[in-house]
Amino acid sequence: MVNAENLFINLAKSLLGDEVVDVLEVLLEKGTEMTDEEIANHLNVKVNDVRKKLNLLEEQGFVSYRKTRDKDSGWYIYYWRPNIDQINEILLNRKRLILDKLKTRLEYEKNNTFFICPQDNSRYSFEEAFENEFKCPKCGSQLSYYDSEKIRTFLEQKIKQIEEEIEKETKLGANRSS
Ligand SMILES: [Zn+2]
Repeated sequence: MVNAENLFINLAKSLLGDEVVDVLEVLLEKGTEMTDEEIANHLNVKVNDVRKKLNLLEEQGFVSYRKTRDKDSGWYIYYWRPNIDQINEILLNRKRLILDKLKTRLEYEKNNTFFICPQDNSRYSFEEAFENEFKCPKCGSQLSYYDSEKIRTFLEQKIKQIEEEIEKETKLGANRSS
């Protein structure tokens, strides 16, 4: 069984690096809202470091905050919580980004002609090959035409698969919230 907390932490790790994990773990452990100072005390680190990490996490949707004004000092106090219930939304956004990248790559493959070096398998665009008189800039071998159909087919399959996943999960999300 996939543990939602592990998934949540691993996703944060892969997007933002290992550094943010301690803050996220404290919030998950605690299970209630915490101020940046409480987190800093708990971890025994500087509150500025905690704030930096919280901002990174907030940008990617992993945490959110509620703020109230302190009656005595007039300063705002931020109460942070982990958005573990929104993990599906975070994953979905991630998939949409990947989909965009794959589509851009597919367009590039479709709109360009490629040449390849038979010696070292380096691939060149038509312009690059033309400039080098169809010789490999690395080793001087004669370049040959490269059929990118396999790459295009792979990209098309991957795009279709991710589009179907997004559609399915968007429907699930809509059902869940209605
Ligand atoms: Zn070469």
